[in-house]
Amino acid sequence: MAFEGLADRLQKTLQRVRGKGKVTEADVKEMMREVRLALLEADVNFKVVKDFVKRVSERAVGQEVLQSLTPGQHVVKVVQEELTALMGGEQSKIAVSNRPPTVIMMVGLQGAGKTTTTGKLANLLRKKYNRKPLLVAADIYRPAAIKQLQTLGKQLDMPVFSLGDQVSPVEIAKQAIQHAKDEHLDYVLIDTAGRLHIDEGLMEELEQIKELSKPDEIFLVVDAMTGQDAVNVAQSFNDQLGLTGAVLTKLDGDTRGGAALSIRAVTNTPIKFVGLGEKLDAFEPFHPERMASRILGMGDVLTLIEKAQETVDQEKAKELEQKLRNASFTLDDFLDQLSQVKKMGPLGDILKMMPGANKIKGLNDLQIDDKQIAHVEAIIQSMTKQEKIQPDIINSSRRKRIAKGSGRPVQEINRLLKQFEEMKKMMKMMGGAQKGKKKGFKFP
Ligand code: GDP
Repeated sequence: MAFEGLADRLQKTLQRVRGKGKVTEADVKEMMREVRLALLEADVNFKVVKDFVKRVSERAVGQEVLQSLTPGQHVVKVVQEELTALMGGEQSKIAVSNRPPTVIMMVGLQGAGKTTTTGKLANLLRKKYNRKPLLVAADIYRPAAIKQLQTLGKQLDMPVFSLGDQVSPVEIAKQAIQHAKDEHLDYVLIDTAGRLHIDEGLMEELEQIKELSKPDEIFLVVDAMTGQDAVNVAQSFNDQLGLTGAVLTKLDGDTRGGAALSIRAVTNTPIKFVGLGEKLDAFEPFHPERMASRILGMGDVLTLIEKAQETVDQEKAKELEQKLRNASFTLDDFLDQLSQVKKMGPLGDILKMMPGANKIKGLNDLQIDDKQIAHVEAIIQSMTKQEKIQPDIINSSRRKRIAKGSGRPVQEINRLLKQFEEMKKMMKMMGGAQKGKKKGFKFP
């Protein structure tokens, strides 16, 4: 996952001031040295780092912090706000043309993930906004590109417009837009050609497509793993073509996150979406504020809630919340919950969005596969009704019986019971935190 190193270092640095009732200039200086190093190590553009540190320092030794009741926490808040601002502040929306179709040009270097992203974006437009997109195969140079887009179209059950590789991309774009009008499709996503490097020919072709298709958005698809190179690519494309947004792909494999933190500041192009895997649904709108919170270990509860809302049965969720509140959560509920969570995606990724999750040791190596979940299911299903409600009664002979019934070793049963106990404890604590919420900005 992105930002691992940076998150770790920033959190450690901020930890030192977090609880402080007084933050001196020397504290800030020392802290800013660490922050600077952490950002540079994350491959953030050095000029961006310099400006960032300057802004945070000014605010952190200023009146704003001194007059605060909790200066330590206030400094953390300043860092969070400035990180958010660095990445563009508000989440930027995708354009909607009032004369449909809305045309989006997808541009980028070869291998950045342009074709895949075109499919992902079309998928999101349909799923989230109920739109009807047309995929346009305008990359006539890479032999497999047209085929790849057609395969994606089939997978998504979405129309793909192609005229083969003998017609110019400009002509393809023109006919595609007409086709979308005729068919009442409201988005046209043009998958343009990529090259290994930026070259004149490519830019000229893109300019011609732009001239003709008057796109509402020009999205640059860049590979986050290429770090500062991604920033340079964004700069060139923006200078020559004028971008309206960037899509950062492969953030799942980029542990440093430098590109995400620099692109907006260097090129003034907002990051609109991020790609987090090869699958078509591994794609999210980019929310600067939520990303900043994730980096600082405050979790990303909003994304978590959204994910849950998309997949989890709302009735059940309400019921569960009630049970958590009055601590009547049983192993049966646990099992139920497990299957709901399973639908939301890899458990490790989900847990990472929870505030304070970075403090749970070993989370990064956490691999929960379906087999393990099946084992847990087998264990819980081998318990009696009473045992599931009141696990305290599970003594050693009962444990042996459950082990036999589920075909799992006794140690595994012990471990599960212990985890369940811990979880209940945590929920009680979270219940307490809920009550204290009114006191103001709360950090984990
Ligand atoms: P194009 O040449 O820019 O059109 O690139 P492709 O769409 O063919 O993608 C190149 C490779 O990157 C493919 O193997 C994709 O599956 C992969 N890819 C694209 N986006 C992501 C992403 O967000 N995460 C990961 N891990 N792989 C990605």
